[in-house]
Amino acid sequence: MPDTSPHSLAILGAGPVGLEAAALAVELGFDVHVFERGEVGDHVIAWGHVSMFTPWSMNVGPASARLLARDGWTAPPGDSCPTGLELVERVLQPLAASASLKSRVHTHSQVVHVSRHGVRKNDHSTAAQRHAHPFRMLVRDGGGRESVLHARALLDASGTFGQPNRAGTGGIPGRGESYLAPQMSYHPDDVRGLRRERHAGRTTLVIGGGASAATTVIALAELAREAPVTRAVWVTRRDTPGFTGETANDSLPARAALYAQGRALQQGASEAVRWQGGCEVEGIEYNSATHRYRAQLATAAGARVEEADQVIVNCGYGPDNAIYRELRVHECYETLAPMKLAAALQGAGTSDCVSIPAFGADQFANPEPDFYIVGAKSYGRSSDFLLRTGYMQVADVLARLAETAGLRAAQEA
Ligand SMILES: Cc1cc2nc3c(=O)[nH]c(=O)nc-3n(C[C@H](O)[C@H](O)[C@H](O)COP(=O)(O)OP(=O)(O)OC[C@H]3O[C@@H](n4cnc5c(N)ncnc54)[C@H](O)[C@@H]3O)c2cc1C
Repeated sequence: MPDTSPHSLAILGAGPVGLEAAALAVELGFDVHVFERGEVGDHVIAWGHVSMFTPWSMNVGPASARLLARDGWTAPPGDSCPTGLELVERVLQPLAASASLKSRVHTHSQVVHVSRHGVRKNDHSTAAQRHAHPFRMLVRDGGGRESVLHARALLDASGTFGQPNRAGTGGIPGRGESYLAPQMSYHPDDVRGLRRERHAGRTTLVIGGGASAATTVIALAELAREAPVTRAVWVTRRDTPGFTGETANDSLPARAALYAQGRALQQGASEAVRWQGGCEVEGIEYNSATHRYRAQLATAAGARVEEADQVIVNCGYGPDNAIYRELRVHECYETLAPMKLAAALQGAGTSDCVSIPAFGADQFANPEPDFYIVGAKSYGRSSDFLLRTGYMQVADVLARLAETAGLRAAQEA
């Protein structure tokens, strides 16, 4: 059996939740290491130009704040909303560079697979028997070199942003979509900044009906004011203006404003935006002579075609469950989130993510002992995850792990 410290903890992903878990784990006395596929805060950097709808006070984890305060960090004004990039630059990067975490955060280290050393998923082993076998991780660096590392406990905080959903009807790629995917975009692009040249003075087809799509279309409408002839064609599956998850008297004013602006654009507030509701994407073609896309759509009124110079698909994200295929994880058949948490979320009786509790460590437990999925990934395909919830999750889960590892007792003694 590999020689593994009983307090070893591996965290997948150096996003806000993974780093909050690392900060707390250091406090509790774990021998923690964070493995990050790209740069620190990689996913948040990708949407760094977007203004967050939660204020600073909800975006910084308590253990992160304590650790940073030791280096003289002062919290930004609580009620203003940062951009994603500000969160990375003012919190995530300083955290990862702090004396406590510097040697523990490994960037360009993708965890490709996790399992248990010497025992397979389908071996007839009890949880206690499996517990005796440390986790085994296959880690790949930026140059493709692979190494094997072991740990006693594992937190998967690798998010969902790296796994965008496809546009096609039924959730599978539309005809031609897989071939064209590398040249289209699947994220809320910075259409007024980095990607301006691709969109200014052109027509962009935006597919999707959630907050990311609204963010993209609002930015395109603003671009149209600066660069005439810019146009957006916005197609959604929903056939009436509005958004799933929109609540009356939203406690987050910035989110309410985003939805209100999106709804106004659907109702014709800008000449530059044409909204087409009730559409299912059948297929997408690209004409390499005209450099234009043609999306074939099915609507209640019959088939329809939309043409555009660029396509942005913002149809949500889902978890990469291939990483833990060899572990025993009970997943929800609807959202792919860990089953107990998914059931608790469904039973919460509210779609307002601000009022959804963190639910406690029991709801995160899997048949696989000491393996927890936290952060945005713990919600599977559901999009209503908030950072604040993730910070509460890691507090609960680490308290449980510390207890199992005898660390809490050691701290309290
Ligand atoms: C556009 C947008 C705006 C949002 N705005 C808000 C907001 O205002 N307020 C709010 O509370 N929430 C918001 N969210 C939701 C959510 O809080 C964020 O998605 C947040 O980034 C989730 O944090 P996380 O740490 O769970 O995951 P992520 O930030 O997604 O971090 C996961 C990390 O894991 C890494 N990774 C992935 N796979 C691997 C692997 N195999 N091995 C190693 N590393 C890996 C990634 O590179 C990434 O750095 C927003 C989301 C989006 C997309």
